[in-house]
Amino acid sequence: MKPILFKSKLLEIKEINPETKILKFSIPEGFNFTAGQYVIIAFYKEGKRILRSYSIFSAPSEIRFIETYFKIIKGGYSSNYLFNMKIGEEIEMKGPLGIFTIKESTIHKDILMISSGTGFAPFMSIVKDLIGRRFKNRMILIRGFRKEEDLCCEEELKKLSEENKNFEYYNILSQPENGNHRLIGHAQDFLEKLTPKDFKGDFYICGLKDMVFETREKLLSSGISPERIHFERYD
Ligand SMILES: Cc1cc2nc3c(=O)[nH]c(=O)nc-3n(C[C@H](O)[C@H](O)[C@H](O)COP(=O)(O)OP(=O)(O)OC[C@H]3O[C@@H](n4cnc5c(N)ncnc54)[C@H](O)[C@@H]3O)c2cc1C
Repeated sequence: MKPILFKSKLLEIKEINPETKILKFSIPEGFNFTAGQYVIIAFYKEGKRILRSYSIFSAPSEIRFIETYFKIIKGGYSSNYLFNMKIGEEIEMKGPLGIFTIKESTIHKDILMISSGTGFAPFMSIVKDLIGRRFKNRMILIRGFRKEEDLCCEEELKKLSEENKNFEYYNILSQPENGNHRLIGHAQDFLEKLTPKDFKGDFYICGLKDMVFETREKLLSSGISPERIHFERYD
């Protein structure tokens, strides 16, 4: 659908850790989106309008609300504002926007998704959407975080991977606190190891620019053509 401007009410707050939350917002009648899209939220600081984008974390089938998944950025106005919102408060949004979606023309292909931090947001929507649509091809998710406490939605992903043999996911931690965690480093460090040798599908990358560019470079230098690489940068 074409993007529209609307007022949205905060319906529910889920705290993932002391710096990260998932917020559930109301949407107007008839609002719909494609998994992987985002909304722009308007904030007002000393009379000045600030616009920030947030990927839609929920799946399109969850039609009565949208969720955002975000982390507080030190000194960042918008993320702190969102973090302190109370249930029932309203905020201005515009959406849906963006083309970081699984194109119908590539829906027959395998997909490998790789994220760092809150860059996982569009992939939660995409994974739930594709599973809901009985996507039969292989779906691999490699998500990088700092510590165990950042591991959002672990139970849900575990259940989805157990119930859907075509979906597998890996958690890479850069600073694990538990000595048992095996995959240590950044998500992109594991790209080569976790990409199946015969992989013919497309790659989707989401996160901050350094990670996005590093991952893209690795893929290009391993011979993957640019048409098979899709990315969304958060900064
Ligand atoms: C298409 C798009 C979708 C986005 N979706 C999300 C989302 O789903 N969840 C989310 O948390 N953010 C998302 N962002 C980033 C978001 O728009 C804001 O930039 C972020 O919340 C910081 O805003 P701020 O005003 O608090 O701080 P600012 O003062 O604007 O940011 C300060 C600095 O923080 C860094 N930064 C920005 N985003 C992040 C981040 N997520 N993690 C770590 N460092 C960051 C950047 O280097 C930035 O320059 C998205 C950005 C884009 C372009």
